[in-house]
Amino acid sequence: MGTADPLLDTFGRIHNNLRVSVTDRCNIRCFYCMPEHPVEFVPRAEILSFEEIERFVRIAVRLGVRKVRLTGGEPLLRKNLPSLVRRIAAIEGIDDLSLTTNGVLLAELAQPLYEAGLRRVNVHLDTLDRERFVQITRRDELGRVLDGIHACRRAGYDPIKINAVAVKNLVEPDIVPLARFGREHGVEIRYIEFMPLDAQGLWLRDKVLLADDILEMLAREIGPLAPEPNGDPRAPASEYRFTDGAGRVGFIGSVSRPFCLSCNRIRLTADGKLRYCLFAIEETDVKDLLRGGAPDEEVVRVIRSTVRAKWIGHEINSMQFVPPPRPMYAIGG
Ligand code: SF4
Repeated sequence: MGTADPLLDTFGRIHNNLRVSVTDRCNIRCFYCMPEHPVEFVPRAEILSFEEIERFVRIAVRLGVRKVRLTGGEPLLRKNLPSLVRRIAAIEGIDDLSLTTNGVLLAELAQPLYEAGLRRVNVHLDTLDRERFVQITRRDELGRVLDGIHACRRAGYDPIKINAVAVKNLVEPDIVPLARFGREHGVEIRYIEFMPLDAQGLWLRDKVLLADDILEMLAREIGPLAPEPNGDPRAPASEYRFTDGAGRVGFIGSVSRPFCLSCNRIRLTADGKLRYCLFAIEETDVKDLLRGGAPDEEVVRVIRSTVRAKWIGHEINSMQFVPPPRPMYAIGG
């Protein structure tokens, strides 16, 4: 099978979207992702170098990957990240390069990353309330995150999206203020249903604030919303716009509106494991191939076999569900 054939799984899904985690380290401690202490991070020597990441992305682009998202842990903790962005932005065939960050270091890096070729960014922010921010992240960094968002607006990023994790009986007071913030500052709020990916096994279905409940809250408190056709039907979010024309919101309803049937994503972890799904139990090592001088064709073979082994989707809503052996910070969003 040549390199021109699309990356097809056994359910007919074409994979053109690669998420690359550049580190598992983070400078905040969201309770639904990682414990405060102790956190064992991957030794630095095991983390893929920029050359290895670039080589992997080049091979993946030959297989039809067109979208690359850089994630973590917290990607801005990776030294010289703008130089990796420059390398990836220079790869012919990539038409969408983005980054997901917690925003704490964004004010300093927004401009250099923009100059390196980054054009869109998702900032993880669940609340505009300082106390609740500290309660969720165990760090007092709300101010720096907001500075980072405004630095992105000044730099010209478009779109700027805010990823807000919807945990029930915690963030209800934040839903409307975040939407108002988005309307005021021209950023899109993405409400993400709480997923069972935390390191401490805290997730329960009744701790998930569901997309429909949030939609109802916004319509009641702000005004009517209309579904907005999503530019990319394979993108995970269902999009809505306020009918008064001021702002859009999105919902990533992994629990109540699973979107696995249109999934186009594969993931590369910071320590060089290829995963066909966020919730995958199994993963395939590519680091030894990249480091061991294996020919590109061998990497191609492993990427293809990983995609062919892909399951139909997560089993969060079934009794068979088994949480993945890696928590979110070690996979990347
Ligand atoms: S849960 Fe897995 S299969 Fe489903 S959309 Fe996410 S990555 Fe794709």
